[in-house]
Amino acid sequence: MKLPAVAIAAAFAVGIAIGLSPAIAAHLSSRELVVSLFIFAALALIAAAILVWRERVWFAGFVAVACWMSLGIVGMLLSEQPQASCNVISVVQNHAIDLHSPLRWHGRLRDEPARLPWGYGYEVALSGVDYEENFLPVSGGLRLSYSAQKDAGGNEVAAPEVHAGDEITVIAAVRRPDIFRDEGAFDRRAFLASQNIDLVATLRSPELMERVSVARLSPGTLIARARRRLRDEVDTLFASRPDVAGVMRAMLLGDRSFVDRAESIDFQRTGVFHVLVVAGLHVGAIAYLLFWLGRRLRLPTVPTAATTLFLLFSYVMMVEQRAPVLRAALMAGIVLVGSVFYRRLDLLNSAGIALVILLVARPTSIMDSSFQLTFVAIACIGGVSAPWLEEHIQPYVKALRGWREVRRDTAHPPPIAQFRIDLRTAVAWLVSKVPSRHLKSAENLSVGSLWVLLRIVELVAVTLVLQIGMQPLMTVSFHRVALTAPVVNLLAVPMMGVMVPLGFAAVLSGTFFSALGRILAVPLGWMTALLIALVKYFSGLPRWSYRVPAPPQWLLIVFFCLLIIVIVALRLGSRTSLWLGRVSSASLLAVVLVIATFPFASQWQRGKMELTVLDVGQGDSLFLVSPNGKTLLIDGGGAFGGFPGRPEHLATDPGEEAVSTYLWSRGFKNIDVVAVTHGHQDHLGGLTAVLQNFKVGTLWVGREVAGTAQQKLEELANSRGVTVAHELRGEQFHWDGAEGRVLWPGAASDTGTLPPKNNDSIVMRWEFGTRAFLLPGDAEKQAERQILAENSAENLQADVLKIGHHGSKNSTTEDFLAAVHPRLAVISSGENNSYGHPSPELLARLEKAGVRTLRTDRDGAVHILTDGSDLEVTCFVPCSEAAANPASVQAHAPEN
Ligand SMILES: [Zn+2]
Ligand SMILES: [Zn+2]
Repeated sequence: MKLPAVAIAAAFAVGIAIGLSPAIAAHLSSRELVVSLFIFAALALIAAAILVWRERVWFAGFVAVACWMSLGIVGMLLSEQPQASCNVISVVQNHAIDLHSPLRWHGRLRDEPARLPWGYGYEVALSGVDYEENFLPVSGGLRLSYSAQKDAGGNEVAAPEVHAGDEITVIAAVRRPDIFRDEGAFDRRAFLASQNIDLVATLRSPELMERVSVARLSPGTLIARARRRLRDEVDTLFASRPDVAGVMRAMLLGDRSFVDRAESIDFQRTGVFHVLVVAGLHVGAIAYLLFWLGRRLRLPTVPTAATTLFLLFSYVMMVEQRAPVLRAALMAGIVLVGSVFYRRLDLLNSAGIALVILLVARPTSIMDSSFQLTFVAIACIGGVSAPWLEEHIQPYVKALRGWREVRRDTAHPPPIAQFRIDLRTAVAWLVSKVPSRHLKSAENLSVGSLWVLLRIVELVAVTLVLQIGMQPLMTVSFHRVALTAPVVNLLAVPMMGVMVPLGFAAVLSGTFFSALGRILAVPLGWMTALLIALVKYFSGLPRWSYRVPAPPQWLLIVFFCLLIIVIVALRLGSRTSLWLGRVSSASLLAVVLVIATFPFASQWQRGKMELTVLDVGQGDSLFLVSPNGKTLLIDGGGAFGGFPGRPEHLATDPGEEAVSTYLWSRGFKNIDVVAVTHGHQDHLGGLTAVLQNFKVGTLWVGREVAGTAQQKLEELANSRGVTVAHELRGEQFHWDGAEGRVLWPGAASDTGTLPPKNNDSIVMRWEFGTRAFLLPGDAEKQAERQILAENSAENLQADVLKIGHHGSKNSTTEDFLAAVHPRLAVISSGENNSYGHPSPELLARLEKAGVRTLRTDRDGAVHILTDGSDLEVTCFVPCSEAAANPASVQAHAPEN
């Protein structure tokens, strides 16, 4: 079987990958090179044409592949254009505007206001900004969120009355999306940029948004209104069950804002999160249904295909976050068009055509994980399960057709003909006791159930192949292994096949004849509730879902090579290739098993003590590794950016997005000790995710306090079999030559009755050789004073001081600083945080004392490594001073 489109797509993708690799790109990024590559590609194309004409097809193939590969490099180089100079991020980076205070922004609403659980969201295509009494034209996207407010009388204040396409001005303090500058951290900024969002802001009051002009009617505004109408219809139909409405919104329209965090984690834990992302499965279900309806109604093929295509692309317009739907619709379109012109276009070839079209449009999409997942899924279905089923199951399904007719046996190959003979004997024996008037139905029943069984086998085979084939990329993107996924998918996917078309029927008919919509919504509501219950049940099974670090790159390459060998072997169908197929399938399974268990060693430096101060925004998280690899995580940051009273919709969880991903990037699955310095959200919030994601040995807490958050964390630790230990003043630890000592707090008589305070913080000092680190959590001057009184200066001195309480002026007093006498201070605080941390007073104290200062809000994660005498300091971004020689802190010029 020939797969020209697959070869072209592969060559093009390899070209893009070459253009992407930074080492090569640095040498290639010249205009001359782009031109010469382009000329080479054109010449290669001509050469290939001549070779085909001379009937040297194989050679022509090679030349054509070279042509497409160089086109891939050209495409990648061309796509890396610098940002337009009026792009708002370039304007901010050139210091033409300062984002620290609220500004008046001008723009046009991209879409209808989106209703959110706490208010409304607005997306604005920016056109300009008023800055220092001038109008500055800027381009870019701004996402505003508005939290519904109540007036003095307790009535809800109306949200601004605006619609898609309206020109507006808005006064808001905007900021760039949060970013964690740690190795492996989730890049929310890049994620939002891919949705054309450069800035985010909160709309403080409805009066701050003004409509300048009303939108004229255009296809864009009409689509936006239709989309809003559909969203509202879903809410109306399922008004009594908000959870069902939330899942339906996600399933039909791709809007997941009403699926809360816990529910979405349940879907992830059971491997069916894809149900909530409108993509291939949804589009496939709808396309299949429409096409099937057309055939049932005996409509001619061409109009049926055209109508299906039209409806599919209208659907793409209706859905949010369109990239995956667009991909799926393009695929479905190519399959449909193929089925009109050819009898049957190979799925892999259709995918190849789609891949080339998508990569020509945007070469960088090859980096997008959902893009990769789509095409790996297609390779698994089209390249592995389809040919396997064709060989092993389909002949039997076909054999059941007209099974009574002996004359048709000869049309089948001998083993299948034998199967039909056996089938007739078996059925005759089975129904021999049945009275003759029921004979026919008994026969149909037994053969029918065999047919159902074969279909189930097909479904199981497809599901298993998909789960195994997708696991490596799922591990890279989501770090999750969901062992229940095959079972839950087997139940959920057929349900979806019914729910998605039924959902559209309900919502569409509901907008025109509300009674019909309500009738259709009844079974739909039951099915959705059943799906939610199933997912919740399987998610509740302990140990069936766990998190792992991403596999090493070479193993992924091995996996994909094996997958290609399996696909090729299945296609060739000869005796040698059968053997090759078996060996490579077995190796493929072994590789997936290795990826799912991650038996690799974690990365740390033997013989050195390490301290990493992670960037978790406004909060603390420190990671300490002993010279023999014993690990201590102190605090885990805490979620921020959420909405008051809506803890289930917290926006950003650094425990998941920064701390866990950082530890995975170094290959850690276990942590010996997790310590929580005190019960404040910015320290313990992220530890929930850490306790869930890692195998933790012990949880250290200081004093018992009356905070529910700390109690919940201890309950979680207990439920996961983690020992909880109270570590108080005087405790000592000997970890492979590193000596740890707890300086604070002492036991209090009022234990467990007072809310958590900064001065409860566990203060630790770690020493290795002649070097020491002092880690005081959020301790303030009262605690510092006590610590000073109780310890000699020798016991307090430290080379590295993690500055207390994020650099607040009430910590790190002059006396304390003099006693510790650090060479390096590290401040952990969030970029542009609302507390004004670090305070100018503290920075002045550090400068006066001549201490080199690094800050997570500017330098990202700060890594400090000592062999007992030297200190090596590196940062995630080049450290803000002494950048020329980051390996040493000998010279410590004070910071400006
Ligand atoms: Zn704090
Ligand atoms: Zn605190």
